[in-house]
Amino acid sequence: MSVVTRFPPSPTGFMHIGNARTALFNWLYAKHHGGKMLFRIEDTDRARHSEEAVTAIINSLKWLELDWDGDVVSQFSNSNRHVEIAEQLLHEGKAYRCYCTEDELREMRETAKKEGRSTFYDRRWRDRPESDEPQGIEPVIRIKAPLEGETVIEDSVQGTVRVDNKELDDFILLRSDGTPTYMLSVVVDDHDMGVTHVLRGDDHLNNAFRQKIIFDAMGWDVPVYGHMPLIHGPDGGKFSKRHGATSVEEYRDMGYLPEAMRNYLLRLGWAHGNDEIISTDQAIEWFDVKGIGKSPSRFDFKKLDSLNGHYIAHADNERLYSFVQPFIERRLDTEISETGHKRIMLCMDELKKRAKTLLQLADEALFLVKEAPFSYDEKAKALLDHDTHTLLMRIKGSLETLNDFTHVTIQDVCKEIANDEMEGKLGKVAMPLRAALTGTTVSPSIFHAAEILGKDEVLKRIDIALERTG
Ligand code: GLU
Repeated sequence: MSVVTRFPPSPTGFMHIGNARTALFNWLYAKHHGGKMLFRIEDTDRARHSEEAVTAIINSLKWLELDWDGDVVSQFSNSNRHVEIAEQLLHEGKAYRCYCTEDELREMRETAKKEGRSTFYDRRWRDRPESDEPQGIEPVIRIKAPLEGETVIEDSVQGTVRVDNKELDDFILLRSDGTPTYMLSVVVDDHDMGVTHVLRGDDHLNNAFRQKIIFDAMGWDVPVYGHMPLIHGPDGGKFSKRHGATSVEEYRDMGYLPEAMRNYLLRLGWAHGNDEIISTDQAIEWFDVKGIGKSPSRFDFKKLDSLNGHYIAHADNERLYSFVQPFIERRLDTEISETGHKRIMLCMDELKKRAKTLLQLADEALFLVKEAPFSYDEKAKALLDHDTHTLLMRIKGSLETLNDFTHVTIQDVCKEIANDEMEGKLGKVAMPLRAALTGTTVSPSIFHAAEILGKDEVLKRIDIALERTG
């Protein structure tokens, strides 16, 4: 049997990190087994529907580089088929029309509460003859859930889970306005799409019992369910806004690489021994349901940063440039020039070793593309005071004489000055030079940076700093 998984988000406006993990696990499961992952948008809530919300999910999935097989399926567009199945169940006596009004249902619940009974719908229409059916009331269609025994699910993550059928009610399949409920739509779509395996959050476990009742009533194969513990925040509570960013787009905008995010989400709920750094190819080879943890994992921002740092350091330079370019251009407020691009590429090996996020990389690359004169940050300003004027004059004088302008010759010049004037402390020469060339006090090796900027640009920036300190 070929494996078919699915990712069926509801378009709520953004893709929650928990949903992204669900997508990843279903994708990995499918890839591992040479199967398919289908993508269905559960867009039946028309009152709150927005196309932007759908686009946000598609973009997030694309950014994560998780592809799907076939077209994006709209659940709403399958509504007629869902209705057809409800009618078939009705026709076969496995479902029934219920004519209770809202008031009647409320009264029924209140009485049950007072008498200490279950507040479930009491099935009063389950066995009533058609002749009792009132005129002028649009009925709902309810499933005839089993009255005895238990419903058992062999869950691939949780093991055997069972519920006494007394805990399950005759839930609604079709509302009185003729629209199918979520419970019905999911089952019909999963069946029609040939879904064989479902991995999803354990907040859906209760739905699984009800969904199984529909599968059984139709005589359809039930997919293999695996309900995963949800993601928790560092404090142990369900991961939410108060812990930090919850959407994929926010992580993208904070400068995380998709491969780092995938590795992090994989480890968040799945383990392969003590391995932390797991490439996507390796993950496809190793992924199995056995490795999914049974208790919720806690989101750890430090771990994510360290993985991101690893992936940035190992990324291909051209690819990294394409990721960091928009961050730099947002800061510059204009496009990066050809010279700027060249300089960044020359410096990339150094820049990428230092950055935990693309934001940080963009910050540290900015001096390579900024037009001088530019503003200095507070620490750089403090360094470029009157005392450094003579030092900068001397640096300039020595650099001017260099014909071969390389990080080696530049460093030699600075060492000589440090020996003469700073008791050999190279940092005392390098820091003011860094402040003058970058406008900041943090950057990759300033000697390399100076080589990349080139002699003319370096002298120009020192001149500007001299004006300041003069
Ligand atoms: N649409 C549901 C959600 O976004 C998922 C339903 C399912 O996996 O069966 O939570």
